[in-house]
Amino acid sequence: MSKQYEKETICIQAGWKPKNGEPRVLPIYQSTTFKYDSSEQMGRLFDLEESGFFYSRLQNPTNEYVASKICELEGGVAAMLTSSGQAATYYAVFNICEAGDHVVLSSTVYGGTFNLLTCTMKKMGITCTVVDPDADEETLHEAFTDNTKCVFAEAIANPALVVLDIGKFARVAHAHHVPLIIDNTFATPINCNPFTWGADIVTHSTSKYMDGHAMAVGGCIVDSGNFDWSEYPEKFPGLCTPDESYHGITYTEKFGKAAYITKATSQLMRDLGSIQSPQNAFLLNIGLETLPLRMERHCFNAQKTAEFLEAHEKVAWVNYPGLPGNRYYELAKQYMPKGTCGVISFGLKGGRQAAAEMMDKLKLAAIVTHVADARTCVLHPASHTHRQMNDEQLEKAGVAPDLIRLSVGLEHINDIIADLEQALA
Ligand SMILES: *Cc1c(COP(=O)(O)O)cnc(C)c1O
Repeated sequence: MSKQYEKETICIQAGWKPKNGEPRVLPIYQSTTFKYDSSEQMGRLFDLEESGFFYSRLQNPTNEYVASKICELEGGVAAMLTSSGQAATYYAVFNICEAGDHVVLSSTVYGGTFNLLTCTMKKMGITCTVVDPDADEETLHEAFTDNTKCVFAEAIANPALVVLDIGKFARVAHAHHVPLIIDNTFATPINCNPFTWGADIVTHSTSKYMDGHAMAVGGCIVDSGNFDWSEYPEKFPGLCTPDESYHGITYTEKFGKAAYITKATSQLMRDLGSIQSPQNAFLLNIGLETLPLRMERHCFNAQKTAEFLEAHEKVAWVNYPGLPGNRYYELAKQYMPKGTCGVISFGLKGGRQAAAEMMDKLKLAAIVTHVADARTCVLHPASHTHRQMNDEQLEKAGVAPDLIRLSVGLEHINDIIADLEQALA
């Protein structure tokens, strides 16, 4: 679809475009495999000489149509769906890193990302240096080694709500000839397009706002096509030298700007197999259709809720980048002028104990582990996800003992505030 369309239009019209007499709605291609008339045709597909579908572990039409919609929303050149956000993060990094390589990682990334990179991938020989996202450029430069292959950070950190200076991170990454990978889950492409600020690869947990209804776990990787791997062939041998498992194909030579996603699909997906089911891709596509409407309302409701909490006598502090006093207010205005996301964190004057008591009194907001869907929900990390830690350990992990994470949903704002009001009382 032509790039002149606005995001609202892309969300509805991009991806599946039926021809004469075809279904109006994206079909679910519930098929593991695809039929061909000649053995030679099939052979050419296996050699990556022709594009086409042959087995759903590698590619499936439903998934491809949904990936292409997200690709257009981000302004990229190629995209793929994965079974989860975790798989997207893993593939995005592992596609250009191997044993002996190194990643520069923002300290405030999602806990699952932190574990994956600092523990699990360490066992595969890939190490990390963790950096403060607010550090100045000089300090960030010090984190790089000769083997650094990428920088990974979140546009808005879950749950710290740190807004990243994407331009700063892109400059530093590019000075070291490596790409910047941005997890854009919380901002979504509706509120932020990291590629316009210099990011090279974007990842998503589509399980959050994109799906928007807490129906299906999924992920996505989008390539901007802007990073020229072939300029640094010794740094990125996987993309710039022949792949023995594909009869000596060199991805950058054969696929140009699509090299990164083609390698991730035809090599990582083939061997590791974290595919999204076509059924889940279908649900994701329904979510995407209303994403701009929902993000607008999530941000409106969160802003009103944050203002209410900030003015409440029992509330000790509120963290929401849309509040003028917030540390990230200016960065949010620059990178996300339409709004940030629907997630707020706050603490009560009564601390950890008061947090648990207040949450038990909520009637509308449910206590769940998920965030970023239509229903307002809360989580108290000190009592739930981080409950094995004492207060001192919590502070070290950047999670205040009294921190309540509130994911503001799409209910009427008056009802959301009334629920908080009665629970606080
Ligand atoms: C939830 C989340 C992930 C992990 O995604 P899953 O779909 O749960 O695997 C990654 N990054 C961010 C920012 C998230 O919020």
